Amino acid sequence: MLGVISCPKCKNVCGISLEQKSKKCIKCDYLIKIKKVRIWVKTKERSNLPELIKKVREEIENASPNIRDY
Ligand SMILES: [Zn+2]
Repeated sequence: MLGVISCPKCKNVCGISLEQKSKKCIKCDYLIKIKKVRIWVKTKERSNLPELIKKVREEIENASPNIRDY
């Protein structure tokens, strides 16, 4: 299972495998703990990821400040 998360520090959106426990942010080097962040979407298809990442990124940009409250 794959998911889309965003970095709590820099808001960079990236795709992950949900079996992972943590992932290092490619932008700011922050070690993201998968369990502690919101998984925006889940998918089984790796080929869907780029499209979903794009969507989530737009969603975050348009979101109200409440949604950024992790
Ligand atoms: Zn980051």
